[in-house]
Amino acid sequence: MTAVETYTTLADAARAMSRDATYLGGGTLVMREVNEGVGTQRLVRVTDPALREIRGSGDTVRLGAGVTMADVLNHRDLAFLHPVARLIGGPQVRNMATVAGNLFAAHPYGDFATALLALGARVVPAVQGSARDIEELLRDRDRAGLIAAVEVPRLRDARAFGFRKVSRVKPKGVSVLSIAVHLPRESGRIRGARVAFGAMGPTPLRATGAERALEGQMLDTTVFDRAAAAATEGLAPPTDEIATEWYRREVAGVHLRRLLSEMERG
Ligand SMILES: Cc1cc2nc3c(=O)[nH]c(=O)nc-3n(C[C@H](O)[C@H](O)[C@H](O)COP(=O)(O)OP(=O)(O)OC[C@H]3O[C@@H](n4cnc5c(N)ncnc54)[C@H](O)[C@@H]3O)c2cc1C
Repeated sequence: MTAVETYTTLADAARAMSRDATYLGGGTLVMREVNEGVGTQRLVRVTDPALREIRGSGDTVRLGAGVTMADVLNHRDLAFLHPVARLIGGPQVRNMATVAGNLFAAHPYGDFATALLALGARVVPAVQGSARDIEELLRDRDRAGLIAAVEVPRLRDARAFGFRKVSRVKPKGVSVLSIAVHLPRESGRIRGARVAFGAMGPTPLRATGAERALEGQMLDTTVFDRAAAAATEGLAPPTDEIATEWYRREVAGVHLRRLLSEMERG
């Protein structure tokens, strides 16, 4: 039998967490495990309405851990993230699936986290400590503890961000891979390029070869070719029921190039 414990604050929930407990976000993955009879016996949930808040302040927008994909789609300040949220599951999933849950979703899920990684989001822990880089969290997410919120930069130029999800079943199939690119520009040159892949490893990962090829350059076809050629440098994509490692390697650069061309056209 599974017991569900409800707390009013994340701090209380954090104190109640233990090896045999699982935090319940929107439950799209956790409840599937419960229904399949796997996973833990204790579910811990929190009712604090702050977890559903989206708040802009200065250069950042703070998304509470419990903000759902549907909430993202309903928020004007997050228009640059709408193309990402829209591609996560169907309407029922989007009504429940949370931002924090996506950070912990196992391969091949994590499309939203891929976008957050490209944007250089920061993750706010529920107890103690300051916000940390999302990349750090993804590297060691089994020990991340409870998450209170995610902070994303408020984009000055939404055209600097692009997202593409490659799946066999359109529009809501599971990712063969997803790509998120953030290319801020100064005087036409790319400064601070970030490229992230989803479903190309155990967690969303940065494509550092492609980033190097883009950094300091203008957006043009020669640069796109170089970025595409370096797309999978240092990555070891998995083989699963959706695609083989070989296929993922073959198509990653092709889709990155297409995304960059779309971004150039605006
Ligand atoms: C039919 C279907 C289609 C889907 N399609 C996609 C898709 O296209 N793309 C995609 O990326 N995902 C997809 N998913 C996976 C999933 O819905 C999303 O990844 C979702 O964002 C997970 O969020 P959740 O709140 O439902 O997580 P939950 O199921 O509640 O939790 C998932 C994990 O995150 C942990 N967690 C949740 N909140 C916190 C927190 N605040 N702090 C610490 N840990 C936390 C939980 O303990 C658990 O380990 C799909 C799922 C289904 C069932």
